[in-house]
Amino acid sequence: MQNFLKELKISELNKGVSTGTKWFSASGEKIISSSPVDGKQIASVNSCDKRSFDYVVETAQNAFVEWRTWPAPRRGEIIRQIGNELRRHKDILGKLVSYEMGKSLQEGMGEVQEMIDIADFALGLSRQLYGFTMHSERPGHRMYDQYHPLGIVGIISAFNFPVAVWSWNSFIAMVCADVCIWKPSEKTPLCAIACQHIISKVFKENKVPEGVCNLVSGGREVGEWIANEPKIALVSATGSTRMGKAVGAAVGARLGKSLLELGGNNAIIISKEADLNIALVGCLFGAVGTAGQRCTTTRRLIIHEDIYDIFKKKLIQAYRQLKIGDPLKEENHVGPLIDHDAVDAYLNAINQIKKQGGNMALAGGILSGKGFESGCYVKPCIAEVTNDMEIVQHETFAPILYLIKYKTLEEAIEIQNAVPQGLSSSIFTLNLREAEWFLSSKGSDCGIANVNIGTSGAEIGGAFGGEKETGGGRESGSDAWKVYMRRQTNTINYSDTLPLAQGIKFTV
Ligand code: NAD
Repeated sequence: MQNFLKELKISELNKGVSTGTKWFSASGEKIISSSPVDGKQIASVNSCDKRSFDYVVETAQNAFVEWRTWPAPRRGEIIRQIGNELRRHKDILGKLVSYEMGKSLQEGMGEVQEMIDIADFALGLSRQLYGFTMHSERPGHRMYDQYHPLGIVGIISAFNFPVAVWSWNSFIAMVCADVCIWKPSEKTPLCAIACQHIISKVFKENKVPEGVCNLVSGGREVGEWIANEPKIALVSATGSTRMGKAVGAAVGARLGKSLLELGGNNAIIISKEADLNIALVGCLFGAVGTAGQRCTTTRRLIIHEDIYDIFKKKLIQAYRQLKIGDPLKEENHVGPLIDHDAVDAYLNAINQIKKQGGNMALAGGILSGKGFESGCYVKPCIAEVTNDMEIVQHETFAPILYLIKYKTLEEAIEIQNAVPQGLSSSIFTLNLREAEWFLSSKGSDCGIANVNIGTSGAEIGGAFGGEKETGGGRESGSDAWKVYMRRQTNTINYSDTLPLAQGIKFTV
């Protein structure tokens, strides 16, 4: 076992169910956690069974009754302390993220930093859960709206951000006085167990009610229990569009609330008036960072015909410099894909590109030999395509970059928008008119639209999410917290009469 796992001092890695400080050995299926870095099995975790799940839901319900009475700044203080615990564990948790998920150590650390940032944001938010005041049309009346907690928030998360997505949701939800039940990806169970151990110290020291922050490890079935559980007021689900359609339908059928953060098919438009040097870095990081396994990964480059050949040449040269290998080693830019299924999906996509008439400008393939024993390392590749190809319309979660040529900005924006997904988009241009057009209502139809920045690497201060098949949810910064609360409009009459709105007379 890697030394850093010992350093985390987790006594029983196999326990996958927790109500905060207490851990349970549930009797669900065993999940095996293997590292895509070296192919080694790290541990096996007992997933949650239905009885344990029902117990967790009941514990969460009871905890909510007390937790909602804690003043918001006191809840913020708990999140502040959690942020500090994360600061102390940044190095070790970052390594675990990198080892279990396969992203570079830089990005693993970055993910933990994102958790720290959102803890700071949530702390500030705990004193800013503002409603509006309105002027009443009736004399001697006052109106305002205020926000109350929803109750239990279910969090279903994907493998590619095994810790940050949970913190985006749970830190904000807890400050809003909600209680959380987290089902992490079955591909990264240990990252979740580590997080829960790190924060449980804070819960113990502050006597936070058991059940405020719960963990239910497991696969799709546990996610389905969350989606179908009427006691769970809001289900925040991050993952594929396939999963989101199933979760959205189940939650919708019981008229619950859902917050869906699903797949992307993100494009960058490279204008002939772009600074090609910064565009190159933006495209490269966007396309190969996390081995193409970010929801915001750059999948399509829409390049002006006048600079198409020169930019393609620069890109291929840059790709040839990339170092692929153990993501825990700082010199490597690209780590492995998460598992063999992901490698199969990558190979299948390359076959489809060729079948559908695309041209491989830079070939892909699996790497083998020393250092690549896990069989999960693949070469980032580049294909020249047209946007209407079936494979281009689909999100392949791997480092495959599509190049598409355009003549006019109108055409480029049309191409950019002509996919089912609507997460992240950007334009590289030094022309103000082009930039503003791209950001206008005639421009990008995505939840995220950037100028002279790539599609990936969002900051926590903004609301994060996308349109169309990306699900429409928003989480993290700005006023995304409102999704985690219910809104109430209050009218108070301090006069000695009872006038009705709209001047209606009712006398007896
Ligand atoms: P996935 O859909 O396979 O799994 C995500 C989670 O959903 C897992 O915890 C899984 O167990 C659970 N799940 C699967 N089917 C379910 C069902 N029917 N009911 C309830 N739960 C179910 O996704 P993945 O492979 O882990 O992650 C990759 C996908 O996630 C990509 O499409 C990526 O774009 C997307 N993603 C989106 C965002 C975003 O913010 N928009 C962020 C990260 C990842």
